[in-house]
Amino acid sequence: MKYFEKNKGSITTTSLKYPELDPVDAVFFQGQEDGKTLLVSTGVHGGEYVGPQAVREIIQELDPKKMKGNVLFLPLINRYGFYHGLKRIFPHDKKNLNNAFPGHEDGSYTERLAHNLADLYQGADFFIDLHGGDINESMTPLCFYPKNPSQGNEEIIAHVIGYLTTGYAVASQAKDGFYSYANLCGLPSLLLERGGGGRWSREEVDGVKKNIREVMDALEILPYEKTIHPPTRIQEAVYEVSPAHGFWYAYVRPGEFIREGQTLGRVETMGGHLVKNFKAKFDGVCLYHTHALGVHTDDALIAYGRP
Ligand SMILES: [Zn+2]
Repeated sequence: MKYFEKNKGSITTTSLKYPELDPVDAVFFQGQEDGKTLLVSTGVHGGEYVGPQAVREIIQELDPKKMKGNVLFLPLINRYGFYHGLKRIFPHDKKNLNNAFPGHEDGSYTERLAHNLADLYQGADFFIDLHGGDINESMTPLCFYPKNPSQGNEEIIAHVIGYLTTGYAVASQAKDGFYSYANLCGLPSLLLERGGGGRWSREEVDGVKKNIREVMDALEILPYEKTIHPPTRIQEAVYEVSPAHGFWYAYVRPGEFIREGQTLGRVETMGGHLVKNFKAKFDGVCLYHTHALGVHTDDALIAYGRP
């Protein structure tokens, strides 16, 4: 993080400027003592409000003079998506940054942004990307971790998960997201999810702030209270998508325990014909679901995991 470093115990607010891209705001906390560097990003998806509010608040509350190590915050990556309440995409090219990594220097807007943002992995020791359920989704708090982390990163990822109060930690095979590509590049990373439905609450914002402090504690940047309830690991999850446009009826709620064979929801046509019933393949817990009534082909409907 040499680019940001100035004085010990200081805060630097800056905008990262990339050719023909909107600037990306950044706030760098340089601790009073040397230590690990944590990268925290939020607002990759414009309609997920809990993370941006939590970062907005915590950068007013942290004191770099009490920190051993550094934190670089990216408080609002997709700012136009945020102001317009867009689902997942950048308005410039209608692409999802979280499927765009590693990106390309000659690609579309989102691909070029991904290509540039990946440079920020350099100099970081750990990375958390803050998300939530989208405007049409409800979810239970959780974090995603890489099922197959880069060599040597398994231990540090397990260490940090052990400090978190996210309820569940779900193994993921994703490779093209901001956090998942970081793992491929050797930077240990997690994606944290809290909130959804185009809403935010005091409780959820405080929950994310707590999670950021828990990660800082795990990295010995700033001490914080230790949890006695680390997340339940989920190694196997099912992500159901809609086979067609239609009406979606969910029968279970995020966080609810489900039984093998239980009907989780169904999709119907406009005329009332059944398109598909979704039944649980095993006993588990509902992680998130779409609460929108109208869904399109390949829309995410429900996810559940086996604890
Ligand atoms: Zn997201």
